[in-house]
Amino acid sequence: GLSERLQAVLGKLRGKGKVTEADVKAAMREVRLALLEADVNFKVVKEFIDRVRERAVGQEVLKSLTPGQQVIKVVNEELTRLMGGEQSKLTFSPSPPTVIMMVGLQGAGKTTTAGKLALHLKKQNRRPMLVAGDVYRPAAIRQLEVLGQQIDVPVFSLGDKESPVRIAEEGVKRAREEGCDTVLIDTAGRLHVDDAMMEELASIKESVNPREILLVVDAMTGQDAVNVAEQFHNRLGLTGVVLTKLDGDTRGGAALSVRAVTGCPIKFVGTGEKMNALEPFHPDRMASRILGMGDVLTLIEKAQAAVDEERARELERKMRTQQFTFDDFLEQLQQVRNMGPLDEILGMIPGLSQAKELKNLQVDEKQLSRVEAIIRSMTPQEKQHPEILNASRRRRIARGSGTSIQEVNRLIKQFENMKKMMKQLSTQGKGGKKKWRRG
Ligand code: GDP
Ligand code: MG
Repeated sequence: GLSERLQAVLGKLRGKGKVTEADVKAAMREVRLALLEADVNFKVVKEFIDRVRERAVGQEVLKSLTPGQQVIKVVNEELTRLMGGEQSKLTFSPSPPTVIMMVGLQGAGKTTTAGKLALHLKKQNRRPMLVAGDVYRPAAIRQLEVLGQQIDVPVFSLGDKESPVRIAEEGVKRAREEGCDTVLIDTAGRLHVDDAMMEELASIKESVNPREILLVVDAMTGQDAVNVAEQFHNRLGLTGVVLTKLDGDTRGGAALSVRAVTGCPIKFVGTGEKMNALEPFHPDRMASRILGMGDVLTLIEKAQAAVDEERARELERKMRTQQFTFDDFLEQLQQVRNMGPLDEILGMIPGLSQAKELKNLQVDEKQLSRVEAIIRSMTPQEKQHPEILNASRRRRIARGSGTSIQEVNRLIKQFENMKKMMKQLSTQGKGGKKKWRRG
Protein backbone atom coordinates (compact mmCIF):
# COMPACT_ATOMS: atom_id res chain seq x y z
CA GLY A 1 0.00 0.00 0.00
CA LEU A 2 0.86 3.68 -0.14
CA SER A 3 1.86 3.82 3.49
CA GLU A 4 4.34 1.00 3.19
CA ARG A 5 5.90 2.48 0.06
CA LEU A 6 6.29 5.94 1.53
CA GLN A 7 7.60 4.58 4.78
CA ALA A 8 10.18 2.52 2.95
CA VAL A 9 11.38 5.47 0.87
CA LEU A 10 11.50 7.88 3.76
CA GLY A 11 12.88 5.28 6.12
CA LYS A 12 16.04 5.26 4.03
CA LEU A 13 16.45 8.98 4.65
CA ARG A 14 15.49 8.92 8.28
CA GLY A 15 18.64 7.35 9.57
CA LYS A 16 21.04 9.40 7.46
CA GLY A 17 23.22 11.95 9.14
CA LYS A 18 23.80 13.72 5.86
CA VAL A 19 21.38 14.05 3.00
CA THR A 20 22.47 15.26 -0.39
CA GLU A 21 20.41 16.88 -3.07
CA ALA A 22 20.71 13.66 -5.04
CA ASP A 23 19.32 11.68 -2.10
CA VAL A 24 16.31 13.94 -1.94
CA LYS A 25 15.74 13.76 -5.66
CA ALA A 26 15.93 9.98 -5.67
CA ALA A 27 13.53 9.80 -2.75
CA MET A 28 11.12 12.18 -4.45
CA ARG A 29 11.11 10.05 -7.58
CA GLU A 30 10.00 7.12 -5.48
CA VAL A 31 7.45 9.16 -3.58
CA ARG A 32 6.04 10.31 -6.90
CA LEU A 33 5.68 6.74 -8.11
CA ALA A 34 4.11 5.65 -4.86
CA LEU A 35 1.51 8.41 -5.10
CA LEU A 36 0.70 7.68 -8.72
CA GLU A 37 0.33 4.01 -7.96
CA ALA A 38 -2.01 4.91 -5.13
CA ASP A 39 -4.19 6.55 -7.77
CA VAL A 40 -3.54 10.11 -6.71
CA ASN A 41 -4.43 12.54 -9.46
CA PHE A 42 -1.32 13.16 -11.59
CA LYS A 43 -1.57 16.95 -11.50
CA VAL A 44 -1.85 16.81 -7.77
CA VAL A 45 1.20 14.57 -7.63
CA LYS A 46 3.22 16.90 -9.77
CA GLU A 47 2.45 19.97 -7.71
CA PHE A 48 3.03 18.07 -4.53
CA ILE A 49 6.42 16.77 -5.60
CA ASP A 50 7.49 20.17 -6.87
CA ARG A 51 6.67 21.79 -3.59
CA VAL A 52 8.34 19.14 -1.49
CA ARG A 53 11.43 19.11 -3.67
CA GLU A 54 11.74 22.85 -3.55
CA ARG A 55 11.53 22.88 0.20
CA ALA A 56 13.55 19.72 0.73
CA VAL A 57 16.60 20.67 -1.27
CA GLY A 58 16.57 24.14 0.23
CA GLN A 59 18.51 25.40 3.21
CA GLU A 60 15.69 24.40 5.45
CA VAL A 61 16.57 20.75 5.13
CA LEU A 62 20.11 20.22 3.96
CA LYS A 63 21.57 22.50 6.60
CA SER A 64 19.55 21.15 9.44
CA LEU A 65 20.92 18.79 12.05
CA THR A 66 18.66 15.95 11.08
CA PRO A 67 18.08 16.36 7.37
CA GLY A 68 16.48 12.96 6.96
CA GLN A 69 13.82 13.76 9.49
CA GLN A 70 13.39 17.21 8.05
CA VAL A 71 12.49 15.72 4.67
CA ILE A 72 9.89 13.58 6.37
CA LYS A 73 8.58 16.61 8.18
CA VAL A 74 8.26 18.50 4.90
CA VAL A 75 6.47 15.57 3.26
CA ASN A 76 4.17 15.33 6.24
CA GLU A 77 3.37 19.04 6.18
CA GLU A 78 2.75 19.05 2.47
CA LEU A 79 0.50 15.99 2.67
CA THR A 80 -1.47 17.75 5.39
CA ARG A 81 -1.73 20.87 3.25
CA LEU A 82 -2.85 18.81 0.28
CA MET A 83 -5.75 17.49 2.30
CA GLY A 84 -6.81 20.95 3.38
CA GLY A 85 -4.57 21.68 6.35
CA GLU A 86 -7.12 22.33 9.05
CA GLN A 87 -10.03 20.16 10.01
CA SER A 88 -13.18 21.33 8.28
CA LYS A 89 -16.26 21.06 10.45
CA LEU A 90 -19.96 21.02 9.78
CA THR A 91 -21.60 24.41 10.06
CA PHE A 92 -25.02 25.07 11.47
CA SER A 93 -27.68 27.61 10.57
CA PRO A 94 -28.17 30.48 12.98
CA SER A 95 -31.89 29.82 12.73
CA PRO A 96 -32.63 26.11 13.05
CA PRO A 97 -33.25 23.70 11.62
CA THR A 98 -29.95 23.25 9.83
CA VAL A 99 -30.61 21.34 6.65
CA ILE A 100 -27.99 18.85 5.49
CA MET A 101 -28.44 17.21 2.12
CA MET A 102 -26.70 13.93 1.32
CA VAL A 103 -25.88 13.39 -2.32
CA GLY A 104 -23.88 10.85 -4.28
CA LEU A 105 -23.96 7.87 -6.57
CA GLN A 106 -25.86 4.71 -5.79
CA GLY A 107 -24.10 2.49 -3.30
CA ALA A 108 -21.68 5.18 -2.17
CA GLY A 109 -23.09 5.06 1.33
CA LYS A 110 -25.50 8.02 1.51
CA THR A 111 -28.20 6.33 3.52
CA THR A 112 -25.74 4.68 5.88
CA THR A 113 -23.82 7.92 6.32
CA ALA A 114 -27.03 9.87 6.96
CA GLY A 115 -27.67 7.50 9.85
CA LYS A 116 -24.09 7.74 11.11
CA LEU A 117 -24.19 11.52 10.99
CA ALA A 118 -27.50 11.57 12.83
CA LEU A 119 -25.94 9.49 15.58
CA HIS A 120 -22.85 11.70 15.61
CA LEU A 121 -25.01 14.81 16.00
CA LYS A 122 -27.14 13.20 18.65
CA LYS A 123 -24.03 12.51 20.69
CA GLN A 124 -23.35 16.24 20.52
CA ASN A 125 -26.73 16.89 22.05
CA ARG A 126 -28.35 17.95 18.83
CA ARG A 127 -31.78 16.74 17.78
CA PRO A 128 -31.52 15.33 14.28
CA MET A 129 -34.31 14.13 12.00
CA LEU A 130 -33.79 11.89 8.99
CA VAL A 131 -35.80 12.49 5.83
CA ALA A 132 -36.33 9.66 3.35
CA GLY A 133 -35.93 11.35 -0.02
CA ASP A 134 -34.93 8.33 -2.10
CA VAL A 135 -38.20 7.26 -3.70
CA TYR A 136 -36.65 5.17 -6.45
CA ARG A 137 -34.53 2.50 -4.90
CA PRO A 138 -36.71 -0.30 -3.61
CA ALA A 139 -36.56 -0.53 0.15
CA ALA A 140 -34.55 2.69 0.50
CA ILE A 141 -37.19 4.17 2.80
CA ARG A 142 -37.34 1.04 4.90
CA GLN A 143 -33.53 1.01 5.14
CA LEU A 144 -33.56 4.51 6.60
CA GLU A 145 -36.39 3.66 8.97
CA VAL A 146 -34.51 0.68 10.30
CA LEU A 147 -31.39 2.79 10.86
CA GLY A 148 -33.46 5.48 12.55
CA GLN A 149 -34.93 2.95 14.93
CA GLN A 150 -31.53 1.54 15.67
CA ILE A 151 -30.11 4.91 16.71
CA ASP A 152 -33.38 6.27 18.05
CA VAL A 153 -33.70 9.18 15.64
CA PRO A 154 -37.04 10.12 14.03
CA VAL A 155 -37.42 9.35 10.31
CA PHE A 156 -39.76 11.40 8.15
CA SER A 157 -41.19 9.81 5.03
CA LEU A 158 -44.15 10.26 2.67
CA GLY A 159 -43.79 6.90 0.99
CA ASP A 160 -42.54 6.58 -2.55
CA LYS A 161 -45.42 8.26 -4.38
CA GLU A 162 -44.51 11.85 -3.56
CA SER A 163 -41.79 13.90 -5.25
CA PRO A 164 -38.46 14.18 -3.47
CA VAL A 165 -38.81 17.96 -3.45
CA ARG A 166 -42.13 17.80 -1.62
CA ILE A 167 -40.75 15.22 0.82
CA ALA A 168 -37.78 17.45 1.59
CA GLU A 169 -39.99 20.51 2.13
CA GLU A 170 -42.44 18.65 4.33
CA GLY A 171 -39.60 17.05 6.23
CA VAL A 172 -38.09 20.38 7.11
CA LYS A 173 -41.50 21.67 8.15
CA ARG A 174 -42.03 18.66 10.38
CA ALA A 175 -38.60 19.04 11.95
CA ARG A 176 -39.41 22.63 12.83
CA GLU A 177 -42.72 21.60 14.37
CA GLU A 178 -41.09 18.88 16.42
CA GLY A 179 -38.18 20.96 17.58
CA CYS A 180 -35.55 19.01 15.68
CA ASP A 181 -32.57 21.26 15.03
CA THR A 182 -30.90 19.32 12.20
CA VAL A 183 -32.51 17.73 9.17
CA LEU A 184 -30.59 15.12 7.22
CA ILE A 185 -32.08 14.55 3.78
CA ASP A 186 -31.25 11.24 2.16
CA THR A 187 -31.51 11.41 -1.63
CA ALA A 188 -31.48 8.99 -4.53
CA GLY A 189 -28.32 8.24 -6.46
CA ARG A 190 -27.76 6.71 -9.87
CA LEU A 191 -25.04 4.38 -11.02
CA HIS A 192 -23.49 7.23 -12.98
CA VAL A 193 -23.76 10.97 -12.94
CA ASP A 194 -26.71 11.93 -15.14
CA ASP A 195 -28.82 14.99 -15.84
CA ALA A 196 -32.04 13.68 -14.35
CA MET A 197 -30.37 13.08 -11.01
CA MET A 198 -28.63 16.44 -11.00
CA GLU A 199 -31.90 18.19 -11.92
CA GLU A 200 -33.68 16.57 -9.04
CA LEU A 201 -30.92 17.39 -6.57
CA ALA A 202 -30.80 20.97 -7.81
CA SER A 203 -34.56 21.28 -7.28
CA ILE A 204 -34.30 19.96 -3.73
CA LYS A 205 -31.47 22.38 -3.06
CA GLU A 206 -33.55 25.21 -4.45
CA SER A 207 -36.56 24.41 -2.30
CA VAL A 208 -34.98 23.75 1.10
CA ASN A 209 -31.81 25.83 0.88
CA PRO A 210 -29.48 23.38 2.67
CA ARG A 211 -26.72 24.69 4.87
CA GLU A 212 -24.56 21.70 3.94
CA ILE A 213 -24.52 19.63 0.79
CA LEU A 214 -22.37 16.63 1.53
CA LEU A 215 -21.19 14.40 -1.26
CA VAL A 216 -20.77 10.81 -0.19
CA VAL A 217 -18.12 9.00 -2.23
CA ASP A 218 -16.70 5.54 -2.06
CA ALA A 219 -12.96 5.74 -1.40
CA MET A 220 -12.44 2.40 -3.09
CA THR A 221 -13.27 3.93 -6.45
CA GLY A 222 -10.08 5.98 -6.31
CA GLN A 223 -9.69 8.42 -9.15
CA ASP A 224 -13.34 7.98 -10.12
CA ALA A 225 -14.36 9.33 -6.74
CA VAL A 226 -12.47 12.49 -7.56
CA ASN A 227 -14.12 12.85 -10.97
CA VAL A 228 -17.53 12.32 -9.45
CA ALA A 229 -16.76 14.93 -6.81
CA GLU A 230 -15.78 17.41 -9.48
CA GLN A 231 -19.03 16.91 -11.38
CA PHE A 232 -21.25 17.19 -8.33
CA HIS A 233 -19.37 20.22 -7.13
CA ASN A 234 -19.69 22.02 -10.46
CA ARG A 235 -23.39 21.39 -10.56
CA LEU A 236 -24.48 21.74 -6.94
CA GLY A 237 -21.78 23.60 -5.08
CA LEU A 238 -20.83 21.08 -2.40
CA THR A 239 -19.89 22.15 1.10
CA GLY A 240 -18.05 18.98 1.91
CA VAL A 241 -17.23 15.40 1.10
CA VAL A 242 -17.65 12.24 3.12
CA LEU A 243 -15.27 9.52 2.05
CA THR A 244 -16.70 6.10 2.84
CA LYS A 245 -15.24 2.59 3.01
CA LEU A 246 -11.84 3.74 4.13
CA ASP A 247 -11.84 0.53 6.14
CA GLY A 248 -11.60 -1.43 2.93
CA ASP A 249 -8.63 -2.09 0.74
CA THR A 250 -8.32 1.42 -0.68
CA ARG A 251 -5.22 2.80 -2.22
CA GLY A 252 -5.68 6.12 -0.52
CA GLY A 253 -5.62 8.19 -3.68
CA ALA A 254 -9.07 9.67 -3.22
CA ALA A 255 -8.30 10.98 0.24
CA LEU A 256 -5.25 12.73 -1.14
CA SER A 257 -6.76 14.18 -4.31
CA VAL A 258 -10.33 15.19 -3.55
CA ARG A 259 -9.53 18.43 -1.81
CA ALA A 260 -6.75 19.43 -4.18
CA VAL A 261 -8.83 18.80 -7.30
CA THR A 262 -12.21 20.12 -6.20
CA GLY A 263 -11.33 22.58 -3.48
CA CYS A 264 -13.96 20.82 -1.38
CA PRO A 265 -12.93 19.70 2.08
CA ILE A 266 -13.36 16.15 3.31
CA LYS A 267 -15.40 16.52 6.46
CA PHE A 268 -15.85 12.92 7.57
CA VAL A 269 -14.65 9.46 6.73
CA GLY A 270 -16.61 6.25 7.00
CA THR A 271 -14.68 3.31 8.35
CA GLY A 272 -17.23 0.52 8.53
CA GLU A 273 -20.83 -0.49 8.18
CA LYS A 274 -21.80 0.10 11.79
CA MET A 275 -23.46 3.31 12.87
CA ASN A 276 -20.50 4.44 14.96
CA ALA A 277 -17.99 3.98 12.13
CA LEU A 278 -17.72 7.65 11.22
CA GLU A 279 -14.79 9.89 12.07
CA PRO A 280 -14.25 13.60 11.58
CA PHE A 281 -11.50 14.02 9.01
CA HIS A 282 -8.24 15.51 10.27
CA PRO A 283 -5.75 16.20 7.48
CA ASP A 284 -2.75 16.18 9.81
CA ARG A 285 -3.73 12.89 11.38
CA MET A 286 -4.34 11.33 8.00
CA ALA A 287 -0.93 12.48 6.79
CA SER A 288 0.78 11.03 9.84
CA ARG A 289 -1.13 7.83 9.37
CA ILE A 290 -0.05 7.57 5.76
CA LEU A 291 3.54 8.16 6.80
CA GLY A 292 3.22 5.59 9.52
CA MET A 293 3.79 7.96 12.37
CA GLY A 294 0.79 6.57 14.08
CA ASP A 295 -2.35 8.40 14.76
CA VAL A 296 -1.78 9.31 18.33
CA LEU A 297 -4.59 11.76 18.70
CA THR A 298 -7.17 9.35 17.37
CA LEU A 299 -5.71 6.73 19.66
CA ILE A 300 -5.97 9.05 22.61
CA GLU A 301 -9.56 9.84 21.68
CA LYS A 302 -10.40 6.17 21.55
CA ALA A 303 -8.57 5.62 24.78
CA GLN A 304 -10.55 8.41 26.31
CA ALA A 305 -13.75 6.75 25.30
CA ALA A 306 -12.53 3.52 26.87
CA VAL A 307 -10.81 4.83 29.98
CA ASP A 308 -11.30 7.93 31.97
CA GLU A 309 -10.13 11.30 30.81
CA GLU A 310 -7.67 11.63 33.64
CA ARG A 311 -5.69 8.56 32.61
CA ALA A 312 -5.67 9.58 28.95
CA ARG A 313 -4.24 12.96 29.86
CA GLU A 314 -1.60 11.32 31.97
CA LEU A 315 -0.70 9.04 29.09
CA GLU A 316 -0.53 11.95 26.73
CA ARG A 317 1.77 13.80 29.11
CA LYS A 318 4.02 10.78 29.44
CA MET A 319 4.24 10.37 25.71
CA ARG A 320 5.15 14.00 25.39
CA THR A 321 7.74 14.02 28.11
CA GLN A 322 9.28 10.67 27.23
CA GLN A 323 8.39 9.08 30.53
CA PHE A 324 6.56 6.20 28.99
CA THR A 325 7.48 2.94 30.73
CA PHE A 326 6.68 -0.74 30.39
CA ASP A 327 4.04 -0.28 33.09
CA ASP A 328 2.29 2.22 30.85
CA PHE A 329 2.81 -0.05 27.89
CA LEU A 330 1.14 -2.90 29.72
CA GLU A 331 -1.73 -0.75 30.82
CA GLN A 332 -2.15 0.41 27.25
CA LEU A 333 -2.21 -3.13 25.96
CA GLN A 334 -5.00 -3.97 28.33
CA GLN A 335 -6.98 -0.91 27.36
CA VAL A 336 -6.36 -1.61 23.73
CA ARG A 337 -8.12 -4.92 24.19
CA ASN A 338 -11.23 -3.08 25.23
CA MET A 339 -11.05 -0.58 22.43
CA GLY A 340 -11.75 -2.40 19.23
CA PRO A 341 -10.09 -4.17 16.33
CA LEU A 342 -6.51 -4.74 17.33
CA ASP A 343 -4.69 -4.13 14.07
CA GLU A 344 -6.50 -0.86 13.70
CA ILE A 345 -5.58 0.27 17.16
CA LEU A 346 -1.99 -0.91 17.02
CA GLY A 347 -1.61 0.90 13.73
CA MET A 348 -2.28 4.08 15.59
CA ILE A 349 0.41 3.61 18.19
CA PRO A 350 3.49 5.51 17.13
CA GLY A 351 6.30 3.22 16.16
CA LEU A 352 4.19 0.13 16.24
CA SER A 353 2.65 0.83 12.87
CA GLN A 354 6.21 0.92 11.61
CA ALA A 355 7.86 -1.80 13.56
CA LYS A 356 8.19 -4.54 10.98
CA GLU A 357 8.67 -7.03 13.77
CA LEU A 358 5.23 -6.34 15.08
CA LYS A 359 3.63 -6.33 11.68
CA ASN A 360 5.02 -9.77 11.05
CA LEU A 361 3.79 -11.00 14.34
CA GLN A 362 0.21 -12.00 13.97
CA VAL A 363 -1.66 -9.49 16.04
CA ASP A 364 -3.91 -11.79 17.90
CA GLU A 365 -4.93 -12.24 21.45
CA LYS A 366 -2.46 -15.05 22.00
CA GLN A 367 0.46 -12.90 20.95
CA LEU A 368 -0.69 -10.12 23.20
CA SER A 369 -0.84 -12.53 26.07
CA ARG A 370 2.81 -13.41 25.45
CA VAL A 371 3.76 -9.75 25.39
CA GLU A 372 1.88 -9.31 28.60
CA ALA A 373 3.61 -12.30 30.16
CA ILE A 374 7.00 -10.85 29.24
CA ILE A 375 6.24 -7.49 30.78
CA ARG A 376 4.82 -9.14 33.88
CA SER A 377 8.04 -11.08 34.34
CA MET A 378 10.00 -7.87 34.65
CA THR A 379 10.79 -6.39 38.04
CA PRO A 380 9.22 -3.03 38.87
CA GLN A 381 12.61 -1.44 38.40
CA GLU A 382 13.03 -2.99 34.96
CA LYS A 383 9.63 -1.81 33.88
CA GLN A 384 10.41 1.74 34.92
CA HIS A 385 13.98 1.73 33.59
CA PRO A 386 14.13 -0.58 30.58
CA GLU A 387 17.69 0.51 29.87
CA ILE A 388 18.93 -1.83 32.61
CA LEU A 389 17.65 -4.87 30.72
CA ASN A 390 20.96 -6.62 30.02
CA ALA A 391 21.44 -10.10 28.63
CA SER A 392 21.09 -11.99 31.91
CA ARG A 393 17.97 -10.09 32.86
CA ARG A 394 16.48 -10.81 29.45
CA ARG A 395 17.25 -14.51 29.85
CA ARG A 396 15.56 -14.55 33.23
CA ILE A 397 12.50 -12.80 31.80
CA ALA A 398 12.26 -15.24 28.93
CA ARG A 399 12.35 -18.14 31.36
CA GLY A 400 9.89 -16.52 33.71
CA SER A 401 7.39 -15.76 31.00
CA GLY A 402 7.71 -19.04 29.18
CA THR A 403 8.82 -17.26 26.02
CA SER A 404 12.12 -17.10 24.19
CA ILE A 405 14.99 -14.67 24.48
CA GLN A 406 14.27 -13.63 20.88
CA GLU A 407 10.76 -12.66 21.78
CA VAL A 408 11.95 -10.66 24.73
CA ASN A 409 14.52 -8.89 22.57
CA ARG A 410 11.94 -8.16 19.96
CA LEU A 411 9.56 -6.61 22.44
CA ILE A 412 12.25 -4.42 23.93
CA LYS A 413 13.25 -3.33 20.45
CA GLN A 414 9.67 -2.43 19.65
CA PHE A 415 9.35 -0.49 22.84
CA GLU A 416 12.50 1.46 22.04
CA ASN A 417 11.28 2.18 18.51
CA MET A 418 8.05 3.39 19.94
CA LYS A 419 9.79 5.77 22.28
CA LYS A 420 11.90 7.03 19.43
CA MET A 421 8.81 7.73 17.36
CA MET A 422 7.21 9.54 20.26
CA LYS A 423 10.24 11.72 20.58
CA GLN A 424 10.13 12.54 16.90
CA LEU A 425 6.47 13.33 17.04
CA SER A 426 6.67 15.49 20.09
CA THR A 427 9.47 17.62 18.72
CA GLN A 428 7.89 17.91 15.33
CA GLY A 429 6.59 20.97 13.56
CA LYS A 430 6.35 24.57 14.62
CA GLY A 431 3.14 24.00 16.50
CA GLY A 432 4.47 20.65 17.60
CA LYS A 433 3.57 21.00 21.22
CA LYS A 434 0.20 22.44 20.47
CA LYS A 435 -0.72 19.41 18.42
CA TRP A 436 -0.57 17.35 21.54
CA ARG A 437 -2.84 19.49 23.55
CA ARG A 438 -6.50 18.91 23.22
CA GLY A 439 -8.75 21.85 22.38
P1 GDP B 1 -26.42 4.61 -0.89
O1 GDP B 1 -26.93 3.90 -2.09
O2 GDP B 1 -25.49 5.72 -1.25
O3 GDP B 1 -27.49 5.08 0.03
O4 GDP B 1 -25.54 3.56 -0.09
P2 GDP B 1 -25.87 2.74 1.24
O5 GDP B 1 -25.89 3.65 2.41
O6 GDP B 1 -27.09 1.91 1.02
O7 GDP B 1 -24.57 1.84 1.37
C1 GDP B 1 -24.22 0.87 0.40
C2 GDP B 1 -23.40 -0.22 1.09
O8 GDP B 1 -22.16 0.29 1.53
C3 GDP B 1 -24.08 -0.78 2.31
O9 GDP B 1 -23.91 -2.16 2.33
C4 GDP B 1 -23.34 -0.15 3.47
O10 GDP B 1 -23.36 -0.93 4.63
C5 GDP B 1 -21.96 -0.01 2.90
N1 GDP B 1 -21.17 1.06 3.52
C6 GDP B 1 -21.49 2.37 3.65
N2 GDP B 1 -20.49 3.05 4.25
C7 GDP B 1 -19.51 2.17 4.51
C8 GDP B 1 -18.20 2.26 5.12
O11 GDP B 1 -17.71 3.31 5.53
N3 GDP B 1 -17.50 1.09 5.19
C9 GDP B 1 -17.99 -0.08 4.72
N4 GDP B 1 -17.22 -1.16 4.84
N5 GDP B 1 -19.19 -0.21 4.15
C10 GDP B 1 -19.95 0.90 4.04
MG1 MG C 1 -29.52 5.06 -0.19
